[in-house]
Amino acid sequence: MSDSKKFLLQESDIPTAWYNIIPAMPTKPRPFLHPGTKKPLTVDDLTPIFSEEASRQELNTTDEWIEIPEEVRDIYKIWRPTPLVRARGLEKMLDTPAHIYFKNESVSPVGSHKLNSAIPQAYYCKQEGVTNITTETGAGQWGAALSLASRMMGIDLAVYMVKISYNQKPYRRSIMQTYGAEVIASPSMSTKAGRKIITDHPNYQGSLGTAISEAVELALATPNCKYALGSVLNHVALHQTVIGLEAEKQMEMAGEYPDVVIGCFGGGSNFSGIAFPFMRHNFAGAHSTRFIAAEPESCPKLTRGVMQYDFGDEAGYTPLIPMLTLGHNFSPANIHAGGLRYHGAGSVVSQLKVDGLMDAVDIPQLESFDAATLFARAEGLIPAPESAHAIAAAIREAKAAKEAGEQRVILFNLSGHGLIDMTSYDRYFAGDLANYQIPDSEIAANVETLEKLI
Ligand SMILES: *Cc1c(COP(=O)(O)O)cnc(C)c1O
Repeated sequence: MSDSKKFLLQESDIPTAWYNIIPAMPTKPRPFLHPGTKKPLTVDDLTPIFSEEASRQELNTTDEWIEIPEEVRDIYKIWRPTPLVRARGLEKMLDTPAHIYFKNESVSPVGSHKLNSAIPQAYYCKQEGVTNITTETGAGQWGAALSLASRMMGIDLAVYMVKISYNQKPYRRSIMQTYGAEVIASPSMSTKAGRKIITDHPNYQGSLGTAISEAVELALATPNCKYALGSVLNHVALHQTVIGLEAEKQMEMAGEYPDVVIGCFGGGSNFSGIAFPFMRHNFAGAHSTRFIAAEPESCPKLTRGVMQYDFGDEAGYTPLIPMLTLGHNFSPANIHAGGLRYHGAGSVVSQLKVDGLMDAVDIPQLESFDAATLFARAEGLIPAPESAHAIAAAIREAKAAKEAGEQRVILFNLSGHGLIDMTSYDRYFAGDLANYQIPDSEIAANVETLEKLI
């Protein structure tokens, strides 16, 4: 074991291939279904919406390693490899025998892990001659990342931003505009899906599901335009595996191997990114690491959702995805971790959870901000409200290790910093934040209609 604080790699250590977990999974996820024919989806079904290469990657269940294009690797060098840090300050504050490490993805130019997938997605669009991209964004992190990535590739971007975040996080909007993107609050009057929900619910504050519907609708109606998604899908999780592949080398430098790997959970991309490369060693029988996804108590798809085919969006434009879901019409409470307010989990993670190959915990909003503040005071970094869920789960593990009087190596992903989320911290300090529990009856009512989809 090393007594260093920080574990740094060289540019040459940036992975040359992403890790595709599907070939190694004991049970493969069921296929995506075409929303019209209900037949398993083909690459040709996806290409009207996504770039061709993203579509191929999405349905690739055979290649364990997928090469990272040289130009993408070159851009990764702007901020990668990211540091792995031993959180000695936090360990001390918790007086725990556990060793806590975090992978710091907040060092990207946009402040989160999202750029890891935005760059290749925009790159493939450029390669294929696409001139416009549409997308949605919740807290604004994905929108910010894709705004920069699109600009670097010389492509125009339109972003539908969930209305609650558009108002709560004005600086993320400014960031997107700085990179030259057009930002529209969702629901908007510019699409059929937006007009319908505004007519039905005039005060609706928006959701990722609705914003996705609007972005997909615009992409389908615009020539030479593709849509890009920042989470949930297989190709997004794939791109994020650079996080875990680097962390694997860095844990080796530290002379340790994680007993527990933790990521916060919105649709699954940063969790998958840190977890999947380590999970392959569990599959091979070499380790028995525990994997924990930390989701908000107010949006508990992994712990309380049902495994069903569901749409990825509110209006039902996307393929049917086999997922742990609260129902595509689920309207989560207006918590400040905007990036975690999504109704479903990606199909791979859903299958892994159902098969008992990973765990999930629900974190109340106040516990997440308690953890964020403690972490900031111990380590100096102010975490994104989303990442705070992973920190809270790591703190629970460290406290459990102390109670059990046992050594435990904990690794979590710091998916982003919170320097643009200080309004949320202000409200926490003012005592204005609340916890939100949803009654079983509300979940049941939401998922009731899902069986009829297939
Ligand atoms: C978007 C986001 C998340 C949640 O999305 P996942 O796809 O589940 O990773 C978590 N943390 C930050 C900082 C984000 O921007």
